[in-house]
Amino acid sequence: MSTSFFGRYIVPEAARLRNSDSFRTIPPIDEGAARELLYSGTRVLNLASNNYLGLAEHTDLVLGAAKALERYGCSSSSSRLITGNFALAETLEAELASFKYQEAALVTGSGYAANLAVFSSLADRHTMVFSDRLNHASIIDGIRLSGARLVRYRHLDMEHLERLLEREAQAEKKIIVTDTVFSMDGDVAPLARIVELGKAHGALVVVDEAHATGVLGRGRGLSAALGLYEDVDVHVGTLSKALGSQGGFIAGRVETIELLRNRGRSFIFSTALPPAVLGASLAALRHVKANPSEGARLMRLSKEIRDHLNGLGFDTMGSTTQIIPVACGRNRVALHAQALLMAEGLLVAAVRPPTVPEGTARLRLSLRADLTNEDIKRIRLGFSRLRVSFFP
Ligand SMILES: *Cc1c(COP(=O)(O)O)cnc(C)c1O
Repeated sequence: MSTSFFGRYIVPEAARLRNSDSFRTIPPIDEGAARELLYSGTRVLNLASNNYLGLAEHTDLVLGAAKALERYGCSSSSSRLITGNFALAETLEAELASFKYQEAALVTGSGYAANLAVFSSLADRHTMVFSDRLNHASIIDGIRLSGARLVRYRHLDMEHLERLLEREAQAEKKIIVTDTVFSMDGDVAPLARIVELGKAHGALVVVDEAHATGVLGRGRGLSAALGLYEDVDVHVGTLSKALGSQGGFIAGRVETIELLRNRGRSFIFSTALPPAVLGASLAALRHVKANPSEGARLMRLSKEIRDHLNGLGFDTMGSTTQIIPVACGRNRVALHAQALLMAEGLLVAAVRPPTVPEGTARLRLSLRADLTNEDIKRIRLGFSRLRVSFFP
């Protein structure tokens, strides 16, 4: 037995993981955004990606990327603050800001980096951040890196949030942060109440619209759908999900964006997005503006499938969006259900801890606006068959 770090810690830890039911491997996938893809030799319908509008392969985006690639080459080769800027990035930010009804916007390398930038710029040791217990990992990581105090409230529980805000009334700086559409549950934050509580307690309100962007509110997100875009202080989103490209963004007041540009470490110390990605993102944004009803179509289709699943007795965990979880409980149950659906030609994610709380493993369907009537029939049939083994 080696006495090295590798021998003492890495080898046994890897063995322990490999033998657990939460071991992760990268699936053998080669065209992961496509509506249909080849999985271990069978063609399956892809209900596991976040390509909600089917834009990732859309001609508009491919042409937007190709034009930028040809004109500028492959890389920005530096941070935006040094030489990595492109006029394309500035156009994208201006159009994102007006799309979100905000004064200014900043594009970052990813949605993950956007959340790190928000908290490293706006929060510090004297800040208390009130965060929904099921907020995305990038929000938690951003809060941790900022040194702020993290106060978690129960998922969607506004009475709990209010009690915590009252308890911490003396805190100097307060931020409330929430996903608008929750990534593993597909339910939606009570944003009107959050905004009210933010005003009453002098707290900054930050929303992460990663899964709502391109979908709700004619693509502008939940805050726009509810007419609350002026009441939310900081709007985070991603270009990598419904918009079919890559990168994150933050929109808000001019001063907020100035702080982010100056203090957002994940923005400052990382190479800017390459031109092809900016070209694709701009094309995607313009596509969504020109086709504002695709998100609404996706919502209707999602309701139809959710109603079918509920009719079969499946628990869809409060979902009201294109993300539909099917509660399984134990990891093994989720993996088994996933395998059965695969045999029906349906690829769905089996989501397990630590991505979701212990004991709440689930299937996660993410639906997409480009599903055909045939596809929808296949989904309905697949779950009807799954039911037989699920509720024996
Ligand atoms: C996916 C996601 C992110 C990260 O966005 P990327 O562009 O994939 O880095 C951030 N927040 C939420 C809520 C997400 O679901």
